[in-house]
Amino acid sequence: MSCTRCGAAITPGAKFCPACGRAVPPEPFAPAPAVAVAPAAWTGGAMPGYEPPTAAIDASGLVVPVDPPKNNGFAVVSLVFGCIWYFWIGSIIALIFGYIAKGQIDASQGQQKGRGFAVAGIVLGWVGMGVLAIIIIALIVSKAN
Ligand SMILES: [Zn+2]
Repeated sequence: MSCTRCGAAITPGAKFCPACGRAVPPEPFAPAPAVAVAPAAWTGGAMPGYEPPTAAIDASGLVVPVDPPKNNGFAVVSLVFGCIWYFWIGSIIALIFGYIAKGQIDASQGQQKGRGFAVAGIVLGWVGMGVLAIIIIALIVSKAN
């Protein structure tokens, strides 16, 4: 800070120039930095104002992965055990999980996929049970004879 008339250094806060005695106008200097800071503070406030929209986009972005229907886990398990069969244990498991899966998929109103898997598991389960029934009937018939 220097005098506007003689250029002598003026200590901050001084009302008059120590060299020439000219009145130092503190008004233009003191408010000037305050005004200069104020817009910076405002732009600083404006920047966080831009963040809520990005946060809203992030929130909707989190919702998007939830929207695509996912395969029902029980439906896949049902189909796998229907294929495994393993002395009709797989068939029973395929039937149980198949009906659970089909119920959950039907109740989900399109939120879950894999109904085909569940139905295939149920069919395989019933085929296995049907084969078991035929074998049991065959055994009974052969013993009766
Ligand atoms: Zn001066």
